[in-house]
Amino acid sequence: MADCYLCGKRAVFRTEDGPLCAEHFSKWYENGVANAISRYSMVNPGDRICVGFSGGKDSTVLLAALCRLNLDCELVAVTVDEGIGGYRDDTILAAKDTALRLGVEHRIVSFKDICGKTLDELLANSPQAACSVCGTLRRRALNAAAREIDADSIATGHCLDDESQSVVMNYLRGDVTRATASFNSNSGDLFIRRIKPLCRSTERATVAYGLCNNLLVPLPECPYTRYALRKDVRTWLGKLEYEKPGTLIRIADGQEELLSKMPKAEGEKKILGRCEKCGEPTSNKLCAACQQLERLM
Ligand SMILES: [Zn+2]
Ligand SMILES: [Zn+2]
Repeated sequence: MADCYLCGKRAVFRTEDGPLCAEHFSKWYENGVANAISRYSMVNPGDRICVGFSGGKDSTVLLAALCRLNLDCELVAVTVDEGIGGYRDDTILAAKDTALRLGVEHRIVSFKDICGKTLDELLANSPQAACSVCGTLRRRALNAAAREIDADSIATGHCLDDESQSVVMNYLRGDVTRATASFNSNSGDLFIRRIKPLCRSTERATVAYGLCNNLLVPLPECPYTRYALRKDVRTWLGKLEYEKPGTLIRIADGQEELLSKMPKAEGEKKILGRCEKCGEPTSNKLCAACQQLERLM
């Protein structure tokens, strides 16, 4: 690759403005995260932020970038141990190590703690349901942890690729409810606010940032991803982004514009109640997590 257009050192990443060295690229990446945070007013002074921290590449970069930005807030990293044999133990060790290096308080909560079973045990008869079960229970676990540490918000490592994939997946599934739900639709009083500081950063840049800053260790891939629709969408969109750079941000921006033009749906103002079983906020008798668990237990 060419030289950094700002200082002439060896470049590691090409941005739209030109190639950048490790140092200038890191600054550029952190600026992008800071811009996303202010664009969506994600952080208020003095906030206590529960950072969903799987130990994987995105959430590791998220935690490191939030530390570097010196925001006026407190960070607590929370790792959810789903109980996935041959995968989780290594990532938990990596997570512990990273949190220690960054000097961030670190907590671990497990599926076993919250529902008595590991993900492997829950999925024994229906592995193809993995991502939806895991996603629902992970949200529940993070919410519980965030309440326990009295957090103002929960930050997750979803990057631009994840956001754009979700937009496309909602259309592929014909899921109009989700396709038209605003990003903030779970911002009712009973829910803890969710923020996604990497939502405008591509996965490619996120991984490059992790590599430049020695944050990443090689980790196994989750064994359940082979069942996920997301995997195909990820491949297609990755190819499109490569051939037509800017595809991902156009999908995310297009969706944002579409939502801004929609009349506020009545559904969004619906007053939430509490789950009869666990007390989590929900509009139904049972919350999504308890419904999942009833089916699986
Ligand atoms: Zn430079
Ligand atoms: Zn419940």
